[in-house]
Amino acid sequence: MRKLGIEYYENKCIGNGSCASIAPDYFELSGKKATLKNSKNVDKDAYTVELNCDEDAAENLIKSANSCPVNAIRIIDMEKNEDLVDVKVKEDKIKEVTSKYDDAKEFVIDAKGYFLIKIDRENKNIVVAFCNEKNKIVLKVTGKKPIDIYQTIINKEKLPIRKDHAAYLGRELQKAYLALKYNLQYVQDDELDLNKKVS
Ligand code: SF4
Repeated sequence: MRKLGIEYYENKCIGNGSCASIAPDYFELSGKKATLKNSKNVDKDAYTVELNCDEDAAENLIKSANSCPVNAIRIIDMEKNEDLVDVKVKEDKIKEVTSKYDDAKEFVIDAKGYFLIKIDRENKNIVVAFCNEKNKIVLKVTGKKPIDIYQTIINKEKLPIRKDHAAYLGRELQKAYLALKYNLQYVQDDELDLNKKVS
């Protein structure tokens, strides 16, 4: 048996749920945050529990903490007073680059096609059409949230667009979403102007 201390920092959690799917005996997802089962709240957002685990359960807990993308889970070997999961972000071999891009000179059209994006204010929807040649729409996706729409287009419909085109779609969808939410004018490819309300 191993004696482990688990610390969970709720404020860091982004709710992707991997801890709960790997170690459901110890973590569960409630709403958009994980919960460390049977833990006590020791600080504003910090929860702890001490456990006596067999080797399999200990390995599973370590695996769940390692899967956390935001280092919200710490596992400590209580007998050796040793961290079992590295929660420090390493920056020693980092490549640092300042972004540089000139759209007027470097833009290259995606040979697979282009998007036409508009807002249906009456039904509070974003409508995305994809043309595979000039004026020929082959796919139309309607939705309310950018994530629903781009997941549908890229992962479900598997539109074979370039990576930068997918990033462009995400940017335009977020603009359309904000324009719909705050009643602003939406013009595809233009910056969102916070002063231009729709009358
Ligand atoms: S893996 Fe980390 S971020 Fe994901 S739900 Fe668990 S604690 Fe939250």
